[in-house]
Amino acid sequence: MLFDVAAAGSLLLCVAVIVLWVLGRSANHEIGRMTPRAFDEIGVSSGELFAITYRELEGDVSVAAPAAPWQWQIGPAVDFGKLTALVIPDVPPPVAGFYFGRIVVRGGKTTMIFLPMALVVALLAVMPVVATTRRLRRHRGARRRAAGRCPSCGYDLRATPGRCPECGQTVRAAAAPASPLGIRP
Ligand SMILES: [Zn+2]
Repeated sequence: MLFDVAAAGSLLLCVAVIVLWVLGRSANHEIGRMTPRAFDEIGVSSGELFAITYRELEGDVSVAAPAAPWQWQIGPAVDFGKLTALVIPDVPPPVAGFYFGRIVVRGGKTTMIFLPMALVVALLAVMPVVATTRRLRRHRGARRRAAGRCPSCGYDLRATPGRCPECGQTVRAAAAPASPLGIRP
């Protein structure tokens, strides 16, 4: 039950991410917060999920944490190859959409992490797919059991209740006898 709820949440998130993925093909959608000495950005653009942070390390560090509220922003699509080459020239550009780069320069620390959106969508889809498969299998098993068939392979068990001669599955007796109308799959 808890798994089903988590799977439903994952499915919603997956759909939202797919929408962002499509929108992010031609634009940059991100939430960010920014102060003069620091910023955080998480967004989707050009097929990438990206997170970028910057912290000033010198001077009055007490004001370095962004106190500004998170804001939704839309801008032009980002060329991540160009961006990383410009900001973190020592680290090679993204490979297949994966990237981790960090640089400390002129008293400021910049960190960039990218993941391919295809991977994010696939990860979010795992739980919904498993939950749906389990549900369908349970449903099919119950339907077969009600029809006097083996819940795992569908073999007719009216002559041999208790154990399936086809696949060896032990079958507990159905709570109710098979429908006289004979429900067929
Ligand atoms: Zn069977």
